[in-house]
Amino acid sequence: MNLHEYQGKSILESFGVAIQRGVVVDKVEDAVKAAKELNEKTGTEWFVVKAQIHAGGRGKGVVRETGSHGVVLAKGLDKVEDTVKGILGGHLVTKQTSEKGKKVNKVLIAEDVYYPGDSEPAEFYMSVLLDRASERNIIMYSTEGGMDIETVAEKTPHLIFKEEIDPRVGLQGFQARRIAFNLGLSGQAFKQMTKFVYALYAAYEGCDASMFEINPVLKTSDDRIIAVDSKVTLDGNGLFRHKDYAAMRDKTEENPIEVEADEAGLNYVDLDGNVGCMVNGAGLAMATMDIIKLYGGNPANFLDVGGTADAERVEKAFRIILKDPNVEAILVNIFGGIVRCDRVAQGIVDAYKNMGEIPVPIIVRLQGTNAVEAKELIDQSGLNVHSAVLLEDAAELVKEVLS
Ligand code: GDP
Ligand code: MN
Repeated sequence: MNLHEYQGKSILESFGVAIQRGVVVDKVEDAVKAAKELNEKTGTEWFVVKAQIHAGGRGKGVVRETGSHGVVLAKGLDKVEDTVKGILGGHLVTKQTSEKGKKVNKVLIAEDVYYPGDSEPAEFYMSVLLDRASERNIIMYSTEGGMDIETVAEKTPHLIFKEEIDPRVGLQGFQARRIAFNLGLSGQAFKQMTKFVYALYAAYEGCDASMFEINPVLKTSDDRIIAVDSKVTLDGNGLFRHKDYAAMRDKTEENPIEVEADEAGLNYVDLDGNVGCMVNGAGLAMATMDIIKLYGGNPANFLDVGGTADAERVEKAFRIILKDPNVEAILVNIFGGIVRCDRVAQGIVDAYKNMGEIPVPIIVRLQGTNAVEAKELIDQSGLNVHSAVLLEDAAELVKEVLS
């Protein structure tokens, strides 16, 4: 589950990481009040207005409706309202969004932490990640902060450092010091950085994150180390331990079809192709997508309906698959192990009749207990459903109906 910048920062702060402070608003009317509040708390005279969307590159991104960038400095309280108007409610297009952009429902009014005239602010990159291959956590960091790390990795890979942390012993003192050293710090800045790294790692572990990325980490000329941005991914499987973080989920940022499927208890992932898939079991779903590809097609989704493929579930699954306008055919591939194939077939026929017209051809492959009876049931239903017993035959049928 991904978080917004302001949510990630609130977690960081609770673990003692120094952050660029701010107040989040969802209405233009609240913006000036928020800025005043922030001024009282921090003394800042300038404010940074930051679009809160689940995508990076906001600073360089452009709001479609107004031409404003997604992160804008307002040099004074009197500039806040207009700046917010340029961002809030618009669609922000960045390198990481589609060309339609993402609707900005909230903005963060943040303190300006770059001192005017500061001759030597340094921007670093730092992230903590789970490395599945080495079964370790990794702190990745670079002197080249503020720009996207992919570009740094491509052009100057020697400027990216990695520190591997064994989760059984945790972050060691020498590792935190090595990081501060490699970033070229000394004196007070060195000390502040080791503190920062410790707190960041504690936040990462403490909330069961799989990624915590801070870009940039700012070093001010008076040697404060501050998290200016935050990009956080929490491990969905750990959320049951963190009700407060689970409540931070913003469904408006997620694919609406995926959200609906999730609420119906269906495992659905939206993809780019034109062949909808309805399958029981994740492994079989993978195999089904593979064979569609092998026969020259492209899966429109991954969908695991789970063990109980009854009429109600099948109908719900059809409805979800058909919400994707790219779907031109649906391949149903069910293995009847626990559930009998003829029951599933009856479910498909009932769902079909219940839904009236399904606008695309359906190919059904049922294998397992009572597969023959199931095929008969489908063939005699008189509906626009093609049946097969072998997976190759089903894939062949998909190819035929699409050509
Ligand atoms: P991103 O573009 O989505 O990664 O958003 P960031 O939060 O990283 O902000 C983008 C850029 O805005 C940063 O790299 C900074 O250069 C700039 N920025 C962020 N906060 C401040 C600030 O307090 N003052 C000034 N002057 N610039 C800032
Ligand atoms: Mn950033």
